[in-house]
Amino acid sequence: MISLSGLTKEFPGGVRAIDSLDLEIADGEFFALLGPSGCGKTTLLRTIAGLEAPTSGNVSIGGVDVTGTPPGRRDVAMVFQDYALFPHMDVTANIAYPLRIKKVPRARREARAAETASRLSLSGLLARRPGQLSGGQQQRVALARAVASHPKVFLFDEPLSNLDARLRLEARTFLKRLQRELAVTTVFVTHDQGEALALADRIAVMDAGRIVQVGTPPEVFHRPAGTFVASFIGSTPMNLLPGAAQGGALHVAGVVLPLPPGVEDGPLVYGLRPEYADLSQSAPPERNASFAGKVAVVENLGTSYLVTLDTGDALVQVVVPEGPPGTGAPEPGAPAWAVPRPGRALL
Ligand code: ADP
Ligand code: MG
Repeated sequence: MISLSGLTKEFPGGVRAIDSLDLEIADGEFFALLGPSGCGKTTLLRTIAGLEAPTSGNVSIGGVDVTGTPPGRRDVAMVFQDYALFPHMDVTANIAYPLRIKKVPRARREARAAETASRLSLSGLLARRPGQLSGGQQQRVALARAVASHPKVFLFDEPLSNLDARLRLEARTFLKRLQRELAVTTVFVTHDQGEALALADRIAVMDAGRIVQVGTPPEVFHRPAGTFVASFIGSTPMNLLPGAAQGGALHVAGVVLPLPPGVEDGPLVYGLRPEYADLSQSAPPERNASFAGKVAVVENLGTSYLVTLDTGDALVQVVVPEGPPGTGAPEPGAPAWAVPRPGRALL
């Protein structure tokens, strides 16, 4: 279990990279730190690892305060974005390096390295140096080096971001299976919301050195704590339209929609995922509760289209599944209606 309390890191010059953070990560949990570039993810991970000393606050691991403990004695293993392999050492020596530092005898550390390499499908590559490996293989060597030291905690700093899109998906599945098997508490840093949703038991969404929401993937996806989380999570950006509650109805982009009970009059933001609206190419029965406009842009997503509708008041995006074989995409310029699905909008 990892516990952070009042954790703050200020760099010289006054940059507050992390700002009085409190967080509890459970034993065996796969925990993702998600946020845009520069929000403090790497600094937070390095502070847990002991590579940065906090300006104030405490880090404890397994119930022990390790705030002043050097990295080598925290029993954590970190995997860096660029892997940080030793170019002059072969795969075995790279994997066994932390064990060498721990003064594990040579025969034992080489056996452990070979066993870990086999688990990560690296057995044929033990005598190679990093320069003789593909990106995906280097990434697995970096993982193997973390796994072989049998740490209490894995700290991963965007370990998949240097792989191409397809390999990244394969590595993601592999990483999830490995973490399930080993059941080691894992903190996984990423700016990729899809990666966080796919991998994590829980996600902390960070913005400017602070945590804005902690929750399971369905919680942060369906009940975002605000527009920052709402716009950050999801494979297509959520429609966020300014509106107002007025006399029991919701006024947004020229449309009047029913208002859920208990909402007071006043300005609000209407949030609708593009997946939670249907596109109608003729006036739908619920036309008074639909956004009418013209198709402005059609983007092909493979088995669906992302259609941008220009209503005159706003741009509304809708994900439209492909039709039966032979049917085409919606035509730019054509009139269309975006029909919100009941109960799906967020206010
Ligand atoms: P992320 O990993 O989320 O992209 P970082 O933790 O790397 O964010 O950086 C958070 C903030 O702290 C940024 O504003 C960055 O410029 C600043 N920062 C990071 N490391 C240092 C450093 N060693 N010295 C000064 N500022 C730093
Ligand atoms: Mg970073």
